[in-house]
Amino acid sequence: MAQFVQYIYIVSAALFILSLKWMNRPDTARRGVFAGEIGMLLAVGGTLAGFPGPDGSAGIANVHNWGWILSAVVIGIAVGIPIAYIMPMTAVPQRTALSHACGALAAALVGTAEFYQHNHYREPLTPVIMIPLVLETLLGYLTFTGSLMAMGKLQEVLPQRPITYRNQNAVNFTLFAIAAALAVRLVLVPTDTILFPIFAGLALLFGVLLIIPIGGADMPTVIAILNSYAGLSACAMGFALQNNLLVVAGALDGSSGLILSIIMCKAMNRSFANVLFGAFGQIQVSQAQAQQRPYRSASPEEAAAILEAASSVIIVPGYGLAVAQAQHKVRELYDALMRRGVDVKFAIHPVAGRMPGHMNVLLAEADIPYDRLREMDDINGEFPQCDVALVIGANDVTNPAARTDKSSPIYGMPILDVDKARTVMVIKRSMNPGFAGIDNDLYYMDKTLMLFGDAKAFVSEILKELPAKVAA
Ligand code: NAP
Repeated sequence: MAQFVQYIYIVSAALFILSLKWMNRPDTARRGVFAGEIGMLLAVGGTLAGFPGPDGSAGIANVHNWGWILSAVVIGIAVGIPIAYIMPMTAVPQRTALSHACGALAAALVGTAEFYQHNHYREPLTPVIMIPLVLETLLGYLTFTGSLMAMGKLQEVLPQRPITYRNQNAVNFTLFAIAAALAVRLVLVPTDTILFPIFAGLALLFGVLLIIPIGGADMPTVIAILNSYAGLSACAMGFALQNNLLVVAGALDGSSGLILSIIMCKAMNRSFANVLFGAFGQIQVSQAQAQQRPYRSASPEEAAAILEAASSVIIVPGYGLAVAQAQHKVRELYDALMRRGVDVKFAIHPVAGRMPGHMNVLLAEADIPYDRLREMDDINGEFPQCDVALVIGANDVTNPAARTDKSSPIYGMPILDVDKARTVMVIKRSMNPGFAGIDNDLYYMDKTLMLFGDAKAFVSEILKELPAKVAA
């Protein structure tokens, strides 16, 4: 049976890898989710089927805690399904943080249980097993509190601004060094049960202290890093429990989180080291100073007339489109314009919205054809030939200051070259800044028209004007 379980694990691991691969593209993403689910089902089933008994046997007959297992399954389903339906997509980053917190806590608790079980009921663990076990618990506990802090900041139940104090980095590194020293002591003396709660407490505290100096603005990137920590914790747990599948799944989770955070850092022109060591927490998200500069605005009727007369339109979606849930109205606008022979494309910035792929998911929900979605590098060359760039709820990702203003916090961040289009129209509710808290020069250009209003309401108004124009 043990051999058979290893085969099941191989199939499971292959499904996890395929799942990640398929989730890379919108048209295969559903298949990817399904593959991941089947992989997880096989993993759980295989683990139960090959459960080890005290006599060295392996089989489902060795499982005696069905009450606990089924309760956990029921609680998981009871919490998971409503969350999937109730949580708006704009809250996905905090939901992700919450699931990392749960995963990391699970890994840390398994490590803790393993430690005490061995010390009280079995032979003490060897240093070889203690190394992954202390890594698992250290990463697990710090990711648990760190993820809860990240979730609190994103949900705005905790202050979003960075909380800093003198010698903060020194305090953090000292605390981490003490936790690491205790970990070494536990590896060398695995019977030191008194030390373990102090070690776990320090890891929990470190998770909080690591996050408080980081502003809410950088939480999505921090979540990707915490994802990586949670994966590494699960990987270490695999070594501690000598479970091959956990090692593979944890490594996949850890490395994908790491790759994701590197992609996000690149797209925001932030260095990875800067994110890892929390130094960027000191970058304050400043409120944009209200600038009294002239700008032009237009009505839905005027916007409809301009769109109707265009032969090419590039729609630039951003966070505001997600907040307004305007994707279905945007789809109607796309259909209406395409019917009139206007060539409509969508320009996707890698960090538009609040999580990687946010805009792809949103537009896919409205069945906008994937081949109309263009990545930043592919579409930027097309803006100079485009009649109208219609920016819907996007701000920072279109700010030309990223190219020109060395003093700007987003200087160096690659942007969509919206300002190069012949006419620019921007739907947003006010002149307020976006995520980075800075003013956008795009809004004051002669070719720019501000379309003030909620994205969904404004696009609906444009749609009402369009049929009239067709008939005219
Ligand atoms: P943004 O810069 O945050 O701007 C969004 C704009 O949407 C705001 O200026 C807001 O203006 C407008 N808005 C909000 N609600 C609206 C509504 N109901 N109707 C119409 N407009 C609405 O968004 P972005 O251009 O998508 O840029 C993303 C930002 O997030 C970047 O700074 C990026 O670095 C950061 N970020 C992204 C990720 C990621 O993975 N995607 C991760 C970390 C950080 P009004 O209030 O005036 O309406």
